[in-house]
Amino acid sequence: MKKEGARIKLRKHFLKNVGRVMDSDELRDVAGGISEWARRVRELRTEEGFQILTHNDRSNLHPGQYLLENPKPQPAFERAISKETRAFVLDRNGFTCQMCGAVAGEPHPYDPSRKTRLHIGHIIDKSQGGTDDATNLRAICSVCNEGASNLTLERPSSAKLLAQVRRATGKDQVELLEWLIKKFPKQTAEMLEKRG
Ligand SMILES: [Zn+2]
Repeated sequence: MKKEGARIKLRKHFLKNVGRVMDSDELRDVAGGISEWARRVRELRTEEGFQILTHNDRSNLHPGQYLLENPKPQPAFERAISKETRAFVLDRNGFTCQMCGAVAGEPHPYDPSRKTRLHIGHIIDKSQGGTDDATNLRAICSVCNEGASNLTLERPSSAKLLAQVRRATGKDQVELLEWLIKKFPKQTAEMLEKRG
């Protein structure tokens, strides 16, 4: 019963301090000084779905700092998805947000202070009859997941994409080339072979 008490206290404290960065001393005190306070924080994240951020998520947080920005926990369906399904969907989507193109673990293209963390979302919403089957799931970054939908772009046509690329600096074009070669090693080798 005692350990449950610490988790409840921590949950209340996080929800009272949404948006404020807290350090480990403060959270240990809130948990009653118990040594497993960090495990209780992890449970809030993994079992209750609270998006408690650390330096792994934000470059402006130091190790030992914690931040709950959004009081809304991750939906239960996402927590119920098996590790295998999650890994399958992320791999199929190339660890890339299917709305904005942000890549897992890299700074978010629209908010570089945030490291991109990917969630699993529905392609067809459940309210529209969509299922939790892997065929109806896709990778979505936390920025898009929080509904910052003005950031989300329609999938660009190749004509528009090429026009954008032509306007970019040579350095950025080479960076793009490197990314494409890494993504399509087989096709790159075939093209080079053809050119002799
Ligand atoms: Zn996104």
